[in-house]
Amino acid sequence: MKKLAELYRGKAKTVYTTDNPDLLVLEFRNDTSAFDGQRIEQLDRKGMVNNKFNYFIMSQLRAAGIPTQVEKLLSDTEVLVKKLDMVPVECVVRNRAAGSLVRRLGVEEGYIFNSPTFELFLKNDALHDPMVNDYHCKAFGWATDEQLAKMKELSFKINTVLSELFAKAGLILVDFKLEFGLYKGEITLGDEFSPDNCRLWEKETLKKMDKDRFRQSLGGVIEAYEEVAKRIGVPL
Ligand code: ADP
Ligand code: UDP
Repeated sequence: MKKLAELYRGKAKTVYTTDNPDLLVLEFRNDTSAFDGQRIEQLDRKGMVNNKFNYFIMSQLRAAGIPTQVEKLLSDTEVLVKKLDMVPVECVVRNRAAGSLVRRLGVEEGYIFNSPTFELFLKNDALHDPMVNDYHCKAFGWATDEQLAKMKELSFKINTVLSELFAKAGLILVDFKLEFGLYKGEITLGDEFSPDNCRLWEKETLKKMDKDRFRQSLGGVIEAYEEVAKRIGVPL
């Protein structure tokens, strides 16, 4: 496999084409952004930690029967993935209230829901990723009803698998964001799963172990990511 041209440079990753039209390389950079890219900083080791974290989680999910993009870990900061035709909406699953839901619905941070919630947000920084629903997805042609049903089913299954995985490591999976795409017609998990796009709290102390440490300037961001990685068994 040969890495060819840069296809897209996002806020945290760079995407490259390869000599295989069905495969891409994702390069995880140290860039860390918050507030729709308004604040960007470099955090030492973040690219490496998130790449290996993501590869570990996606491998666990694949073993649990979730169709995922991952093909091969290429280096500390690069992974070979299936080229997906991305659905331009983010799927957010929540087990407890935090972040935008607290601001939107006025509940206390940490409020435990009776059952997990599922929300959709359009990927659009200029519009601040507005919340959308199934009808918008259908009306704008972002995803069909059938594709949405699959995305929802996989999101809840991922929540079950990962809530258990983190619980065993003494961590609460508060919420997380997923991005799906189509590979040869099948809804497949893409992008990344790392402490950059989920919330993880230490069970005993409720200490934040995720990107909220960066958003809220709490310090020790990568140290917290590394601690989570160590506890769940990611080889760094
Ligand atoms: P952003 O675009 O939000 O700034 P990133 O810096 O993470 O985010 O950039 C990665 C980009 O690559 C995202 O736009 C994401 O949707 C896209 N992407 C992730 N995984 C795949 C994949 N397997 N195939 C095609 N595109 C992907
Ligand atoms: N999230 C993400 N990318 C986004 C928006 C949210 O990865 O563009 C993740 C975020 O890290 C959290 C979950 O999705 O784990 C829910 O985020 P929320 O809607 O609470 O927004 P926030 O307060 O993080 O802006």
